[in-house]
Amino acid sequence: MRTTFKVDLRSDTVTKPSPEMIRFMTGAALGDDVYDEDPTVHELQELVAGLLGHEAGLFTPTGSMANLIAVRCHVQPGQEVLCDSSAHIVRAELGAHASLGGVTTRTWPMHSAGQLPGQLKAADVLDYVADKTSPYLVGTACVAVENTHNFAGGTIQDINELRLLKESLTGRQVAVHLDGARLWNAVASGAASLEDFGQTADSVQVCLSKGLGAPVGSVLVGSKSFIDQARVWRKRFGGGMRQIGLLAAAGIFAVKNHRAELVRDHAAAMGLAMRCNEVLPGSVDLGRVQTNMVMVRVPAADEVVRQCADVGLGAWALDSRTVRLVTHRDLSKEAIEWASDVLATTLTSLFSAEKCPESGR
Ligand SMILES: *Cc1c(COP(=O)(O)O)cnc(C)c1O
Repeated sequence: MRTTFKVDLRSDTVTKPSPEMIRFMTGAALGDDVYDEDPTVHELQELVAGLLGHEAGLFTPTGSMANLIAVRCHVQPGQEVLCDSSAHIVRAELGAHASLGGVTTRTWPMHSAGQLPGQLKAADVLDYVADKTSPYLVGTACVAVENTHNFAGGTIQDINELRLLKESLTGRQVAVHLDGARLWNAVASGAASLEDFGQTADSVQVCLSKGLGAPVGSVLVGSKSFIDQARVWRKRFGGGMRQIGLLAAAGIFAVKNHRAELVRDHAAAMGLAMRCNEVLPGSVDLGRVQTNMVMVRVPAADEVVRQCADVGLGAWALDSRTVRLVTHRDLSKEAIEWASDVLATTLTSLFSAEKCPESGR
């Protein structure tokens, strides 16, 4: 498999730490974080918890582990977490919640009537919530929401639906967990503030390693007692780390310096989307391009990915008819222009014949 691309649009996880970030990391004060004695980790956890309006935070190696810990804290073995059918939790965490947490997962359809794919309607989700005292039905202990929605193409959740969901579940002892791997992008787009989104959930995980550009890590936030419990589960899952202030410093640097720049990634994504639509009309629904992702509908996604890879452009086939493109901070203006040209050439050479059979191609 090819390991380097000239321009990589497979994901925003591919960014590398800048020299300034590395310099900042090397100056971090360190301690043993399993003993809770790393001052830089404390600083990161307090910074992120504060931004999201929660009491406490916990640095985790990955977003997957943060989700796993959060769900396991909210859900007892045999109970269920509800999420949508294309949620990262159910599709991209390799069954961890079942195999390591003993948790059942049940899903609502990713596409609600009247909403963009990935955007939930509180009323639809509430229909799925099951009573925990039933002697035969699995009880719902947690609802997990994804914002922005990755496999739907970076779509942003409606804050009013999230508020309605949270209010409706508050008296029912059903926790809300927000998988906010790319919550930073939703906020950068102007949808709502970090604190507003944060207040719609009992726990939130945010990734530092995606668009923000840190090399590793997520922060899970919640109440003080929730985070105390989460700390135990992090160690139990093998995620207790030692002098990780070095890595937390990268997170602090990213949170402080890189959030404002996400809007550039969003503009770049829209530019790519419009170019794809120019050469293959209707291939991108521009209404779904809300953040840094573009979903391109094509007759054969694997073919597009292969041809792009041959010339050094990284893209990803989400399914047989969808190519996902993700913009990020390591792409220069020239890189985006080059990628846009490669995509235009590829889509034209592969599919224009299907649009215009008489053109002779
Ligand atoms: C990336 C991602 C995660 C966590 O990913 P890790 O690679 O484990 O850090 C969780 N949820 C969503 C929606 C993601 O996109």
